[in-house]
Amino acid sequence: RAKASGKAQFARYSHDLSSQAQRQLAMQSDLYQALEQGEFDLHFQPIFRIGDEAPHMVGFESLLRWPHGQRQMIPTEFIPSLEESGLIVPVGEWVLRESCRQARAWQLSGHPRLYCSVNLSSRQLQQPEFASRLAGILRQTGLAPASLILEITERLLMQNSPETQANLSKLASLGVRLALDDFGTGYCSLGYLSRFPLHILKVDRSFIGGATHQPELTAISRAIIGLGHDLGLEVIAEGVEEEAQLAFLREEGCRLAQGFWLSHPLTAADMQQLLQQPNGEPARAPRFHAGSA
Ligand code: C2E
Ligand code: MG
Ligand code: MG
Ligand code: MG
Repeated sequence: RAKASGKAQFARYSHDLSSQAQRQLAMQSDLYQALEQGEFDLHFQPIFRIGDEAPHMVGFESLLRWPHGQRQMIPTEFIPSLEESGLIVPVGEWVLRESCRQARAWQLSGHPRLYCSVNLSSRQLQQPEFASRLAGILRQTGLAPASLILEITERLLMQNSPETQANLSKLASLGVRLALDDFGTGYCSLGYLSRFPLHILKVDRSFIGGATHQPELTAISRAIIGLGHDLGLEVIAEGVEEEAQLAFLREEGCRLAQGFWLSHPLTAADMQQLLQQPNGEPARAPRFHAGSA
């Protein structure tokens, strides 16, 4: 009896596997088509300087979007598929080109120092020609290398591939800045922070989310901010959802932040509108001023 049910379970399992593999294949062919037909889109999440006065937009993070049938697929659903199929290389290049083009257009419309932050996958940095292709994109779009930040993950640093190493040092000599994304969630040993040409630490939102009411997360957030600053890095807090978190960050001397409390990721049109407000503040969000009074 036990044997029979074990067999039934195995049958169900292998059935799930093959239907999962089928879904995976179908998704990859949809993604290929999306690339061919220009279906991908970008949203832009403003990054703010949070001084004593009202927050001031200084840059944005580009976030990939795929409008898929009735709903918008979120990146965590389709980026693994892009990575597995290798499509992340051409899609990532599209993200870079479109982000640089858009950033330059906004700079020319009266925001000359606005910077642009783009997420990279390890597959992209393993391409030996990545840095030179990026240099080409910067030339063609007219964006200065200093206006571009590339976000990489701890996992990527730990892969230690010679191609990645070569690309990272070429990027640094171009003058492009590197940010370590979701810092504290990977398995990176702290020594890596000194071994790579990093400029920015992004404190993961899982820490910021509890920083004002969970003593352990307060301690971790505070330690990451201090570590970043002591290493001479800029620190950006991610996922600021409440005013109290903004107050905490100010107290800890963290000068840069992004998150739903400040602004959700925006379409290009909404971003354009926001840039026309003084300080890049959404007119509809008086809460902005509350914390700075
Ligand atoms: P990430 O780089 O850590 O991006 C921040 C994510 O947090 C975004 O999710 C953003 O919408 C979300 N977020 C921002 N503020 C808040 C907040 O206050 N609360 C909460 N709960 N969430 C907030 P999104 O757009 O779904 O992106 C998820 C991840 O997908 C990104 O995490 C990044 O790792 C990856 N990703 C997005 N676009 C690209 C891309 O073009 N290339 C690559 N390789 N990865 C990308
Ligand atoms: Mg990111
Ligand atoms: Mg992040
Ligand atoms: Mg994240």
